[in-house]
Amino acid sequence: MIFSDSRDFALQLDSDDKLASFREAFVIPDPSLVYFDGNSLGMMPKAAQEKSRQIVNEQWGKDMIRGWNKGWWEAPSRVGDKIGQLIGAAAGQTLVGDTVSVNLFKLATSALTLQPNKTRIITDTFNFPSDLYILQGIDNLLSPSPSGRGDGGEGKYEIIRIGASDNDITPDLAALEAAIDENTALVTLSHVVFKSGYMYDMQRITDLAHAKGALVLWDLSHSVGSVPVHLDDSNADFAIGCTYKYLNGGPGAPAFLYVNKNIQEKLSSPIWGWWGQKNPFDFDLDYTPAPGAQRFLVGTQPMISLLTMEAALEPLLQAGMDALREKSILMTNYASFLTESWLVPFGFSLGSPLDSAMRGSHISIRHSEGYRINRALIEEMNVIPDFRAPDNLRLGFAPLYLSFADVWEGFDRIRKVMEAKRYEKYPERKLAVT
Ligand SMILES: *Cc1c(COP(=O)(O)O)cnc(C)c1O
Repeated sequence: MIFSDSRDFALQLDSDDKLASFREAFVIPDPSLVYFDGNSLGMMPKAAQEKSRQIVNEQWGKDMIRGWNKGWWEAPSRVGDKIGQLIGAAAGQTLVGDTVSVNLFKLATSALTLQPNKTRIITDTFNFPSDLYILQGIDNLLSPSPSGRGDGGEGKYEIIRIGASDNDITPDLAALEAAIDENTALVTLSHVVFKSGYMYDMQRITDLAHAKGALVLWDLSHSVGSVPVHLDDSNADFAIGCTYKYLNGGPGAPAFLYVNKNIQEKLSSPIWGWWGQKNPFDFDLDYTPAPGAQRFLVGTQPMISLLTMEAALEPLLQAGMDALREKSILMTNYASFLTESWLVPFGFSLGSPLDSAMRGSHISIRHSEGYRINRALIEEMNVIPDFRAPDNLRLGFAPLYLSFADVWEGFDRIRKVMEAKRYEKYPERKLAVT
């Protein structure tokens, strides 16, 4: 498509948008706010708002303990299967609970202890730092003398972090391929990486790892609800992901995990809790794992949050991932075009792949004053992006509720901040959350 930078062009894209009406399914408290942070915390679906009231007033308030037999107990697997529809996972493999970091701990530890003779873990410098910390902690725990820092120096595991092939936008795929060997127990990557938005070819990397006998674990935090994912078809072993980003589940909504049915029975969770026990209400004094992925549950889950998130999935399931992806690609292409035409002259550069096939639903635009520009946008322009060090102004495009007019407006305001150098009055010192 040939883009234009006129506002009328954005309005035309909106009138051609088959998903435009989904905006009405969201609470929009301030129509002039341009929200580019749906990749960090999705906006609130009206269905979730209503449901959370019903959960508190009716389910907790009136059902009380009876709620457990009225749909709470099964909620982790019921809601997991709904998320499964968004990530190409047949029922019985996806469960909701805990946080992404905790789920990574459980699944990665389980993958490593299944293959005790292998000592190599492959990840990359693009991964979310918490994922790297968790791997280092596991190494520290599983090492004979737990003094290793998990960086490959002292511990049992050599944790290889593949670097960039360019200016921190694209991982070095040749180095990744070369690093996977017969001694590799686990390859774990973010499918869509959190800074540049680069998206791995899940099928290809999974095949490469399997060819050497390694297991593969995908972090889908920036993929679920933004790009179609085909876990079963790619024969991925494990996945984890977040529900408060593109799934709009609300702050701190519980995460999910996926374990391929072909390996479920071979695995042991490192945390043996009663929710992962075979018959929790027998109150047996000894642990027997529950069948299948269920063994990766631990304890009581946050029901108010979990059931609110379940309701938040409705608009996504209705829209369908293919239609969402189509709009998301058009949006990120349009945003890349506006970056080139309006912002590059002010010293910005695109920090994301140009090819939409290699990109999720956010783009980073880089500027040495990125942090202060971010502050100016939030505090005086009613635009909310976020900032990721060292120089990435990150713009998320949640196709369910963002309009093309929003995108035009947001870029116009960034341009105005640059024209008037409005960022100059902000301190360099960063707030706690950027
Ligand atoms: C957001 C995000 C997380 C969040 O982890 P929590 O433990 O749920 O806080 C983890 N990994 C990636 C790649 C993320 O983007």
